[in-house]
Amino acid sequence: MKCRLCDSTAIAALPRHNSGFCRTHFIEFFQKQVRKAIRKYAMFSRKDRLLVCVSGGKDSLTLWHVLNESGYDTTGLYIDLGIGGYSRASLEKAESFAEGIKRELIVVDFAREYADIKRLAALSKRTDCSTCGVVKRYFFNRVALEQGFDVVATGHNLDDEAARLLGNILRWQIDLVRKQSPLLDSDEGLVKKVKPLFRLTEQEIAIYAFLNRIDYLREECPMSRGTTGLIYKDILNRIELESPGTKHFFYFQFLERRDDLFSDGAVERKDRPSLCRRCGMPCSEQVCAFCRLTDYLKRSGQTPDEPA
Ligand code: AMP
Ligand code: ZN
Ligand code: ZN
Repeated sequence: MKCRLCDSTAIAALPRHNSGFCRTHFIEFFQKQVRKAIRKYAMFSRKDRLLVCVSGGKDSLTLWHVLNESGYDTTGLYIDLGIGGYSRASLEKAESFAEGIKRELIVVDFAREYADIKRLAALSKRTDCSTCGVVKRYFFNRVALEQGFDVVATGHNLDDEAARLLGNILRWQIDLVRKQSPLLDSDEGLVKKVKPLFRLTEQEIAIYAFLNRIDYLREECPMSRGTTGLIYKDILNRIELESPGTKHFFYFQFLERRDDLFSDGAVERKDRPSLCRRCGMPCSEQVCAFCRLTDYLKRSGQTPDEPA
């Protein structure tokens, strides 16, 4: 197959566009998708300080790579969740990547300061993944707030967002559907959050990472095995194989139509977040989910450091 834009041989097939690109034009296509995402949602500008949350995996290191190459002011954030060898290997990848691009990586050693995720999940009777989600969201915001970052960026891609939308619709969690967006604006105590890779699939990100020799951790998080998120991704990929472009259409049409869908007040807007009376971070109740989680540790006899 020839490149869609020149005479060179295509090295990356793009079934959803019914075409392929050579190396140069693939990288151009990729960067254009990121630029389009940033522009359409007014995510950030070159004056902003960006906190890029990196897990050591391909999505987040690719995100850091592309933002850094595009001249944005970036700093990485890695949260060590204490998932055995997986967390150690993830940290190594994040550290060596940061060294390679000569950018600072902030590391929060959650496992050492508090507990490992599995133990916290068992104590609180939450699933591993939801416990992990609470902890990550909390530190993304807290570090950004305390260190004066303008924006928090994560590596969520089209597959992540389409799978999440499917999950929310299957359970008719309309309020979650309404809130799902590549951009969560800042509010009191809440730093703006963005997902600049939302226009790109996992496969396209893997190609970009390969072409740019990004050394990422290939292993998936051992706690994510069998989770519904992975099942929905797999189902969407099977549909995509039969009918290329469906995943893209499903999520992009949702974004296009969301305002119309919810313009009749079908979903009540929740009040603005209040601030946790213990740690001062935003929450929907009096005490935030993170403080409630760490209460389990206190009750179990292991007192975590009180958040400042
Ligand atoms: P996940 O929730 O694992 O699908 O990850 C979604 C995004 O969250 C990644 O693309 C990263 O931007 C960020 N992320 C995940 N794990 C970590 C971590 N341990 N430290 C910092 N950021 C993370
Ligand atoms: Zn070309
Ligand atoms: Zn709190």
